[in-house]
Amino acid sequence: MANTPYPESYYAASANAAPSRPALQDDVETDVCVIGAGYTGLSSALFLLENGFRVTVLEAAKVGFGASGRNGGQIVNSYSRDIDVIERSVGPKQAQLLGQMAFEGGRIIRERVAKYNIQCDLKDGGVFAALTPKQMGHLESQKHLWERFGHGQLELLDQRRIREVVGCEQYVGGMLDMSGGHIHPLNLALGEAAAVESLGGTVYEQSPAVRIERGANPVVHTPQGKVRAKFIIVAGNAYLGNLVPELAAKSMPCGTQVITTEPLGDELAKALLPQDYCVEDCNYLLDYYRLTSDKRLIFGGGVVYGARDPANIEAIIRPKMLKAFPQLKDVKIDYAWTGNFLLTLSRLPQVGRLGDNIYYSQGCSGHGVTYTHLAGKVLAEALRGQAERFDAFADLPHYPFPGGQLLRTPFAALGAWYYGLRDKFGM
Ligand SMILES: Cc1cc2nc3c(=O)[nH]c(=O)nc-3n(C[C@H](O)[C@H](O)[C@H](O)COP(=O)(O)OP(=O)(O)OC[C@H]3O[C@@H](n4cnc5c(N)ncnc54)[C@H](O)[C@@H]3O)c2cc1C
Repeated sequence: MANTPYPESYYAASANAAPSRPALQDDVETDVCVIGAGYTGLSSALFLLENGFRVTVLEAAKVGFGASGRNGGQIVNSYSRDIDVIERSVGPKQAQLLGQMAFEGGRIIRERVAKYNIQCDLKDGGVFAALTPKQMGHLESQKHLWERFGHGQLELLDQRRIREVVGCEQYVGGMLDMSGGHIHPLNLALGEAAAVESLGGTVYEQSPAVRIERGANPVVHTPQGKVRAKFIIVAGNAYLGNLVPELAAKSMPCGTQVITTEPLGDELAKALLPQDYCVEDCNYLLDYYRLTSDKRLIFGGGVVYGARDPANIEAIIRPKMLKAFPQLKDVKIDYAWTGNFLLTLSRLPQVGRLGDNIYYSQGCSGHGVTYTHLAGKVLAEALRGQAERFDAFADLPHYPFPGGQLLRTPFAALGAWYYGLRDKFGM
């Protein structure tokens, strides 16, 4: 029986103590079988348990093995495409509902951390950093847009002010969102799994769902057991493979890479990020970074379309880090890893139902820490018969990538190359 460990990362090395959960070896019965123990699966499980459902979670590897245990840890509001784009695509009524939800994920994370006493180094404050006046103009409109949807914890930063919060010379300005922030992502997932178990839910690790028997009484099969459930929630995102072929067709796994420096010491850490906010720049192919609790810099960026693992991550990411912070040229990189997120053509999440009882949410296209927490709530509401918010997501139009599964990778890479050029020339 395969035993898949966490990939080597700073997060795995600094994870809170957690039990090794057994693989499913029986035939069990439950109300909801959740496939995948990332944030989407765990958030769904928690909301369902809080509402009286019996829940069994199947995880192919370990809790937080996927993007949820490897990401930059940045709590970023809204979706990978903003509400104005949604408004133009689906009209004001649906956009209103989606806009109201765009800031809920961060609140859910904070509620979870407080309610279940999750130790995950939660810090408030995220900065969007503009590299060009055009990007600054975009942030100004974004502030107005978000305020229109009731989000008020925002401050525009001029060039002088951004220097006070980010020790980097590249930026012309930015926007500070105090409801953004950062967390140790794997410890958040581990804390949520423990919360699931505290409410009577069961989490099986090393238990990949290998087949779903669909129908009025669906059954999920693992190599050594099965789960009979009233409902199934599919939350495997970029790691799902072809278990549900309908879901593979309109999305594409992509890799993105992260490096972590050696501890920098208080003085250098404070020179980079005096208030300990996290930062992402406004490029299409964006760089993002933050400090850890032991004062390392975690720096991420870059996308590998089709999710092949790059050979030398440090060689790809370190130059980006040095461009932002040349003062780190002699600093050692202790960890480098890659993880997969799921891209959709619209960059909006795909939410829906297959038949009467298989629900899914996937494809938040890069910004997923907050959305996945909201997704769990929205899926749980739908299972309880309140589908208005679920429908607002489910009704978003989605299209297959041009070229199908064979050619989607080169086409998407071509698109990214085009946007990369636009970033480079400030277009
Ligand atoms: C390197 C990286 C950096 C990122 N940085 C940020 C960031 O800073 N901020 C942000 O907002 N977003 C970020 N993201 C995106 C964010 O992490 C994801 O959108 C989010 O974690 C997705 O959560 P999920 O639960 O849907 O999927 P995942 O966390 O990938 O979880 C899916 C789980 O399902 C399991 N699984 C798959 N198939 C099966 C099966 N058949 N049976 C059982 N289990 C299965 C997998 O093993 C996995 O554990 C980043 C992503 C990556 C990869």
